[in-house]
Amino acid sequence: MSVRIVRDFIKFYGAGKTLTLYESSIVRKKNHIFFLIREGLNKKLVILYPSDAEVPEGFVFEEKGSFPYGRKKFNYVLCPCNSKNASQLRRTFPYTRPQAIGLRPAIGLGDRLGLATPGHIRAVKEFGVFPVLAQQSIREMERTQRTPQEVLDDVSWAVFQEGYRGGFAADADHLKKESHVDATFAAGFTMYTIDCSDYIDFEADNYSFNALKSRFENLPWDEMECDKNRFIRLYKRKRIVLNMPDGEIKELKFSEEDLFRAAVKFSRAIIFVTRMYRRLRKLFGRRRFDFEVSIDETEKPTTPLEHLFLISEFKRFKVKIHGLALRFVGRFEKAIDYIGDLKEFENSLMEHILISKRFGPYKISVHSGSDKFSIYPILNKLASNMLHLKTSGTSYLESLRIVARHDPALFREIVKYGLEHFQEDRKSYHISTDLSLIPDPDQVSNEELEKAFLDSPAGRQVLHVTYGSVLTAKDEEGRWLFRERIKKVLLENEEEFYETVAAHIKRHIKKCFM
Ligand code: ZN
Repeated sequence: MSVRIVRDFIKFYGAGKTLTLYESSIVRKKNHIFFLIREGLNKKLVILYPSDAEVPEGFVFEEKGSFPYGRKKFNYVLCPCNSKNASQLRRTFPYTRPQAIGLRPAIGLGDRLGLATPGHIRAVKEFGVFPVLAQQSIREMERTQRTPQEVLDDVSWAVFQEGYRGGFAADADHLKKESHVDATFAAGFTMYTIDCSDYIDFEADNYSFNALKSRFENLPWDEMECDKNRFIRLYKRKRIVLNMPDGEIKELKFSEEDLFRAAVKFSRAIIFVTRMYRRLRKLFGRRRFDFEVSIDETEKPTTPLEHLFLISEFKRFKVKIHGLALRFVGRFEKAIDYIGDLKEFENSLMEHILISKRFGPYKISVHSGSDKFSIYPILNKLASNMLHLKTSGTSYLESLRIVARHDPALFREIVKYGLEHFQEDRKSYHISTDLSLIPDPDQVSNEELEKAFLDSPAGRQVLHVTYGSVLTAKDEEGRWLFRERIKKVLLENEEEFYETVAAHIKRHIKKCFM
């Protein structure tokens, strides 16, 4: 019945226009039928209702009218997909609202353009893996000039568009300041990933014993919530044994030097994490939220003893974590496969898993996790029931495939612009791109563009880290140089775009979780 009325409305309203109806979005609530359409590049929420009923409360509309349906008359309103309506949408349809996920395994899917989420939804729907749809770091939001609210709103509209009712979380990723926590809380995020790396003393690995000792004495003991001597006694008693699957037994315990080093290196970071946790506790009151700590963007791999120290301290401060993103051995460079020894990775992951099983439960969170196809079988074997895999920029690259296929000239412009900005943009990433491997885009034929730039590690990395420059570039008159043109190509080839993103994410899910 709803679908019939909607089709009649499209026939009536769409006459002479190019309208796209998102059929999966159609949903009825009491007297009202809600669904999404697109006119040109603009998506709109339509609400239909019998002419004797009222406009549903809370939605703002820009156009109102009526149309005949059989012998009856129906009214319609067209509502812009703005923030006010997004927030009313979340109130009206709870499935468009993010939720806390606790310890469920999950895949994090960032959507830098705010357009790829329907593709993400199609991928997770097929396998039943729990998605974190709005996963965006403060760095990404700054670079794409999107606010936390816009990120979350775009996801709510996409969930509505797909009619997806399986639930999702929203991850405010790599938060480094109290103001980041406040801004993402205000937007409605449910998961908070605190990046404490600014508070870690990386030099601690090189200090002499005496330097360590004096720095240890000078830790902010009033904030440590523990007397120094009691702290030392506590850790000197700590000893755990890891039974590795190959029969090897590993013992973890703290010598005085180990303890001084761990405390000097991490204590200020732990105090920061604790402050953010308590802030969130207060903001959320009795409501649930997910809490992750990340130290993945650091130079050196996290040792098992450091992991043990971190989790012991979180426990001492009563900080309840759902996930921990360690820095693993090997290299996790953006957009390309794992670089490193697979056996070494497996062994070290096993040690970390044994620690988290013993002191948790909490999930092992793998960041920069997209395109790491060679380690997925290991993650699957050892950790699929306690894994949080974060992928992000990879969907942006998949969207550029659509641009390469349908607007090769625009794609070449993006590559050239990326190459110009690469040296600057790469600074905040740990990547080892060899630029000499990248061909001149003018020398590559249309048919070869994807292969040359999106299937090659060097090309992928250049495009992956320059997204911010590309998406925010403007001409002399202040108009977007690429952003709107990319959006246009993607929306004009919407189904192909979603299916391409979905296919790419499915490959991740199959190998990691199934
Ligand atoms: Zn990370």
